[in-house]
Amino acid sequence: MDRYDVAVIGGGPAGLMAAKHASICGASTVVLEEHRAVGYPVQCAGLLGIRALEASEIREEGFLLNPFRGAVFVPPDGSRLSFRSPDIRAWAVDRRLFDRSMAVEAVRHGVEIMLGAHVRSLRRSGDLTVLELGDKEIAARAVISAEGVRASIARRSGIPPPKRLLSGAQVEVPFDVDDIESVEVHLGRDIAPGLFAWVIPISRSSARVGLCATDGACSHLRRFLSSDRINDRIRGSPVSLVVGGLPLGPPDRTVADGMLAVGDAAAQVKPTSGGGVYPGLVCGRIAGRVAAEHVLNGGQLERYEREWRSAIGREISLGMKVNDTLRRMSDGDIDMMIRKIASRPEVIRAIEKHGDIDRPSRVILRVLTMLALDLSFIRTILRVMF
Ligand SMILES: Cc1cc2nc3c(=O)[nH]c(=O)nc-3n(C[C@H](O)[C@H](O)[C@H](O)COP(=O)(O)OP(=O)(O)OC[C@H]3O[C@@H](n4cnc5c(N)ncnc54)[C@H](O)[C@@H]3O)c2cc1C
Repeated sequence: MDRYDVAVIGGGPAGLMAAKHASICGASTVVLEEHRAVGYPVQCAGLLGIRALEASEIREEGFLLNPFRGAVFVPPDGSRLSFRSPDIRAWAVDRRLFDRSMAVEAVRHGVEIMLGAHVRSLRRSGDLTVLELGDKEIAARAVISAEGVRASIARRSGIPPPKRLLSGAQVEVPFDVDDIESVEVHLGRDIAPGLFAWVIPISRSSARVGLCATDGACSHLRRFLSSDRINDRIRGSPVSLVVGGLPLGPPDRTVADGMLAVGDAAAQVKPTSGGGVYPGLVCGRIAGRVAAEHVLNGGQLERYEREWRSAIGREISLGMKVNDTLRRMSDGDIDMMIRKIASRPEVIRAIEKHGDIDRPSRVILRVLTMLALDLSFIRTILRVMF
């Protein structure tokens, strides 16, 4: 039986980052990926903020498709509120190539990747964990579950499920793009209950159009695509379809006997947008180091829980409150909120200056403070929150 210090289940961004850092710390590390290629199938809109790109530690840029400096918010009444920053804040990326670059980096740092390696189950044997792959078994002293949203091995090992599961769907379509440097965010209970719909330009003539909702994303997306909001800009049939779940709200425990969970498996996802790549990379780096220190120096695995929560826990819990508030807002509440922001140029300037899709809490708190004296705004927020 092959033996490693650290075995990582899943070759997505969180797992590859964890594996790379476990290996950098000196642990012999293997990534077990069930598919025959890393980065397949893509289950992502591929919108990454500047912080996520920095956190990926990749220096080559072959996966960058289109830069964004702005965003246009479209509330249920169909009005448009635009923000634009002087610098690039995010990129549309090719997620398949992004994941491949992460894999190449991990391998360059000594990680072994096994493809077509579906982990079926685990069992403990002394201080080792034995991973059963069907035709063979592998033993490891620490296991990192980076299995993504389903995370069946993590659940069977005692790591609880996320607090909430959203449903996401997206198509890439030929599209008449008005502003190639802005992402559109469409809000409303009829459009995408629970989160929002998006239009992410990839070029002047194509865009990714998708949404996340409390459930039934595919049927909401079908309605959105045929709605007056965007239908007349669509220029032909979809060329790709992405469907997947988004876990929101990390469980109270992300460490079990000999195992750490990271990325979507631990619901380390921004509840304000459903984006999981940035938090997965931040936590992956911590998980890899803690797992290596555990096997090499006897460090406690529980340190992972404390460290990742101190890095991004506050951001995620504020994001959950924002998500709760958005879910309870009526279309009229959302229209009112957007109108209030549109009427205050200093609030727009603050959002343009401080907007950060990876760490939105600072700008959200700033906007709330700036609107704190607006009684009807505050009354609405308090009503939907409590
Ligand atoms: C519609 C949609 C749009 C999204 N858009 C964005 C976006 O624009 N920006 C963003 O940041 N995030 C986005 N996300 C979320 C993002 O895709 C995830 O948060 C991210 O991929 C999670 O990374 P991960 O490494 O945790 O898991 P994954 O990327 O899901 O990787 C998990 C890997 O584990 C493998 N695996 C699972 N079980 C086993 C097993 N038993 N044995 C071996 N291998 C296994 C899987 O095959 C997979 O390769 C979106 C999600 C959806 C559904």
